[in-house]
Amino acid sequence: MINLKKVIIKLPPYEVPQEALIKLNQNESPYDIPEECKKEILEQMERVSWNRYPPEDPTDLIKALADYTQHPPEGIVIGNGSNELILASMLATCNKGDSVTVVRPGFALYPYLAKILQLKLREVRLRKDFSFNIGRLLRNAHQSKVLYLATPNNPTGTTLELEQIANLASVRQCMIVVDEAYYEFHGQTAQRLTLKYPNLLILRTFSKAFGLAGIRLGYLLAHPDVAKQIVKAKLPFSVGTFPILVASCLLHRKNLIDETVRMIISERTFLFEGLKNIPGIKPIPSRANFILFVLQGLSADMVFRRLYEKGILVRKFSHPELKNMLRVTVGRHDENSTFLAELGKIIGGLNA
Ligand code: PMP
Repeated sequence: MINLKKVIIKLPPYEVPQEALIKLNQNESPYDIPEECKKEILEQMERVSWNRYPPEDPTDLIKALADYTQHPPEGIVIGNGSNELILASMLATCNKGDSVTVVRPGFALYPYLAKILQLKLREVRLRKDFSFNIGRLLRNAHQSKVLYLATPNNPTGTTLELEQIANLASVRQCMIVVDEAYYEFHGQTAQRLTLKYPNLLILRTFSKAFGLAGIRLGYLLAHPDVAKQIVKAKLPFSVGTFPILVASCLLHRKNLIDETVRMIISERTFLFEGLKNIPGIKPIPSRANFILFVLQGLSADMVFRRLYEKGILVRKFSHPELKNMLRVTVGRHDENSTFLAELGKIIGGLNA
């Protein structure tokens, strides 16, 4: 008999459909980086030695990140996507059987990893309007080793106030991980609080606003004393030479990112207004690059399938509390317009 943990055998694979003409299901950026940027990076890549391991602390990238975030360089840790840093934060804080608190509905990877590590999962439901229940989170934080909060939250797009984060971080024995994957679309960060609350970790990614989901790079902002501990729970050399070069290049072109973010925010408004105008659809106001919407009296499964038949892929959920909802990523203007037009036709047909 092959030795595999029962928890692994029972766990459904972490799978997301990848193919569609109009792909609005993974909160990626609809804009690839410009050709001249790619050329410049590939030329640099030709000049470096591929036979050597990458630097553990790439000075140029850390300096560029310190400039971008205004965070002390000693408090920055890079990872192979922020996913790796989510795992590192769990490995660094929890022993088997310890409690982890997450928000429900929230990002599926936190409970997924907690299950593999055989941790006790505490799920705190968002309120009916999808705001965070701080009282319940506080009570659970007191019983947990680590608490994961995404702001803006995936899949709802709702956010936490800085005072609420400070309030939660006052539970000193619990590590509070604030996942700011969608920070650029929201514009607010709790990063400064890390110096006052060393039990607070901030996670960021290059997969969303920077349009680098395929390159795999994330980073963590923490108190320098804590950063140097978390780094020990990461795989050595997990960030290759290529993502280091790509990220450094883009950080030196901040106006490109600002322009992309501006376009996505403006398209978010277009998409929100368009959804609001379709009878039977209620979009939830979002500060991220996606919008969750409620299908009043309609089956989300059916709408998902009809959209897919038209080549449009959005995200559906298995959580029972999200069963009449879908999430759509903000795409390019033409993609958003096609999505709205097709959705309008589908809903019109179903209501006829
Ligand atoms: N955190 C949240 C809240 C996310 O929604 C995602 C991506 N869906 C990630 C982290 C993963 O980011 P990365 O690509 O950097 O691993």
